[in-house]
Amino acid sequence: MASQPRLTSDMARTVFAMPAYLLDQLVVRLPAGAETLRARRWLIAALVAILSLPAFAADETAKVLVIYSNGRLLPANVEADRGLRAVLEGSPGRQLAIFDEFLDYPRFGGEAYEREFANYLRGKFGDDSPDVIVAAGNEALQFVIAHRAGLYSRVPVVHMGVTKQWLSTLPPLPAQIVGIPWDLDFAGTIEEALRLHSTARRLVVVTGASARDRQWEAELRSEVVPRFNGQVTAEFLAGLPAAGLRKRLGELDDNAVVFLAGFFRDGDGRDITPRDAAEAVASASAAPVYGPFETFIGTGVVGGRVSTFEDFGRRAGQSVRRLIDGASPESLRLPEVMPARLVVDWRQVRRWGIDAGAIPDDAVVRFRQPTFLEANRTEVMIAMAVFLLQAGLIGWLLVERRRRRGAEHAVERQRHELAHASRLAMAAELTGSIAHEINQPLGAILNNADAAELILDSGADHRDELRAILADIRRDDRRASEVIRRLRALISKHEVDRRPFELNEAVREVRAILDAEARRRRVTIDVLPARSPVPMMGDRVEIEQVLINLVVNAMDAMADVAEERRKVVVSVDNVTGGAEIAVRDHGHGIAPDRLPRVFESFFSTKREGMGLGLSIARTIVEAHGGRIWAENAPGEGAIFRMQLPATDFARQPSAGQP
Ligand code: ADP
Repeated sequence: MASQPRLTSDMARTVFAMPAYLLDQLVVRLPAGAETLRARRWLIAALVAILSLPAFAADETAKVLVIYSNGRLLPANVEADRGLRAVLEGSPGRQLAIFDEFLDYPRFGGEAYEREFANYLRGKFGDDSPDVIVAAGNEALQFVIAHRAGLYSRVPVVHMGVTKQWLSTLPPLPAQIVGIPWDLDFAGTIEEALRLHSTARRLVVVTGASARDRQWEAELRSEVVPRFNGQVTAEFLAGLPAAGLRKRLGELDDNAVVFLAGFFRDGDGRDITPRDAAEAVASASAAPVYGPFETFIGTGVVGGRVSTFEDFGRRAGQSVRRLIDGASPESLRLPEVMPARLVVDWRQVRRWGIDAGAIPDDAVVRFRQPTFLEANRTEVMIAMAVFLLQAGLIGWLLVERRRRRGAEHAVERQRHELAHASRLAMAAELTGSIAHEINQPLGAILNNADAAELILDSGADHRDELRAILADIRRDDRRASEVIRRLRALISKHEVDRRPFELNEAVREVRAILDAEARRRRVTIDVLPARSPVPMMGDRVEIEQVLINLVVNAMDAMADVAEERRKVVVSVDNVTGGAEIAVRDHGHGIAPDRLPRVFESFFSTKREGMGLGLSIARTIVEAHGGRIWAENAPGEGAIFRMQLPATDFARQPSAGQP
């Protein structure tokens, strides 16, 4: 009920009695006299009568009699009733009493029945006639038209759910009967069905066995279906017994579309509501089913072009309210037909693979399950935000990593170039001994060549001796070439080059490079290789450079030591995870306070020292994932140790960078 305050008769009397009293007082003050007295009485009577009228009107509850064609629980009736009540009970104005009566077609019918029904109404309501009658459905309107004279001939009638097609067969309605005709759009529904199933070639029309059903069938046969003749072949399943109908429907293929007009009685003579009929047909059919009633939606039917029954109720309710409020039926100006639109069951759209794009925007889509996105919008938004944030963060980290890599490569390149410069300096330092080492085989070659010449000059056949000389020349040449090769390897500028190599071999190569220098300085170099090969991954030339540096430093430290004690021992040992190389000398050792500083750049105790050798050595070792440190040997001299990991192919060139 509306929450609007209503004007009760007591309130009205009080409100309207007040000005009457005031006027009375006013008139009393008129000059006395017989005429004046009479006039005063008339005036008061008229005023009271006029002012009291609305009070009586407000007191009277308006009665609305709704006569439905069918039974109480017909879904269409339930929907229409909902719409009607929503409007009538929700609008301000006179209080309403709604009475519902059901003709219960098609279970009952016929003239006698209708007479009885009219009598029943007359007996029930007597002289207390309704203010408005609502006729719901064709049969109800027909009944009202037929019995109105004997019932309530002057009461306005609003019809709802009365088909335009049936109305067109009647003579014009009296002015007191108004309503919005229902265009029961069989053709519109079939048109939509064939549009949504453009490949369908058969139209199967299902109708029932009641008189109303037969009317529909006739209309479909004569007017509706012929319109689609060129498009599809039509087949009628009219008034079939339930089992037969089920069987025929089950045999349909996807070439077919079913149009169900809905029926009230099946071929077995059983009464059924059109909605239940729709449910039975849809569940049996192997082809999509369409129907012209809103109440079919949800039964398994795909949809149809329909006016909703609730809308019927609402529109009728609006007319009723206006009539009760005093409007005349002629003044209502109602639309020509109830608007209709396509209503579909989304589940059926999916089931039959109907292109969702073919469903018009103004269509009503029922039973659409919200998509995951629709159902979890907030969560999805948060997840997306987190994802984007994360992606942004990852992107930023990747850029940073790239930058870091770039910086690392730059550092690596610089270190490499520094190492190369240091090797050049080292080579320059060793030039004397290297030149000597090359000169030796060259001198020997020359001597051998001279000797060979003498032998040839002698004229005698000394082929064996000549062969031995040539062999010596070849050997000396190889020696000289080997020295040059080593020197080139040492001083050549190459890119950072990480390859597998064997550590013992590298140590032996170092000894070969320094052999001449050691001899020059009268130092013995002892190499104690590891028992088993030590496979390494790295830049062999750089590791050799470190070792050369350590051995040269060791020789420097023994410059003042007696010749017999000038000995450098280079040992390689396998340790867990790699190898340890120790370079031990018998020199002056390192003062304890200098020990932490020897690897610093530019730390040198030598007169012409640069103080870069050990610092470069440390960067090289660390770039190979190792470490290097110095200690004083027990007794005398120093030991430089370094540990390098054995083959570790996973290590990147920059590993171990500070
Ligand atoms: P440089 O040889 O130009 O001085 P290094 O970095 O190679 O530069 O050596 C730094 C310093 O470490 C040397 O000046 C020396 O004082 C000390 N040092 C290096 N090796 C030894 C060693 N075997 N015994 C004693 N001191 C050493």
